[in-house]
Amino acid sequence: MNLMESMPQIAQEIAHLHVEIQNTKEALQTAKQDVDFLTEFSNRTNDINKILVSQLQETNEHGHGLTNALEPVENTHPTIVCRSCFSRGACMLILPCHHLTTCKSCGVHLTMCPICGTAIAEAIECRFV
Ligand SMILES: [Zn+2]
Ligand SMILES: [Zn+2]
Repeated sequence: MNLMESMPQIAQEIAHLHVEIQNTKEALQTAKQDVDFLTEFSNRTNDINKILVSQLQETNEHGHGLTNALEPVENTHPTIVCRSCFSRGACMLILPCHHLTTCKSCGVHLTMCPICGTAIAEAIECRFV
């Protein structure tokens, strides 16, 4: 095969490569737009996060923690904390040992008193008012 005969083939390959370069450029452009969009999106998400955090701090400063606001209203002891989850007030009186040690959610799952280890025969929900 001499050079003159292979010229059209080479020209075709070059044309094909041009098209590929063009496609790659377009893909790069699209990718760049995606990056711009995601950068802006993450900036905005950061802003929203900051607002939420400051709102949360404000809420806590006023003595109404968000956790409390989201908890279902439960009649719990104001000072005795549940010995099982340590996050809610205790309201379940355990029988037969009479220990007041768990919140309602934990009380229904427990089989033994967290204080003395007595097998729970019954747990009674108490009222403090
Ligand atoms: Zn609990
Ligand atoms: Zn007990």
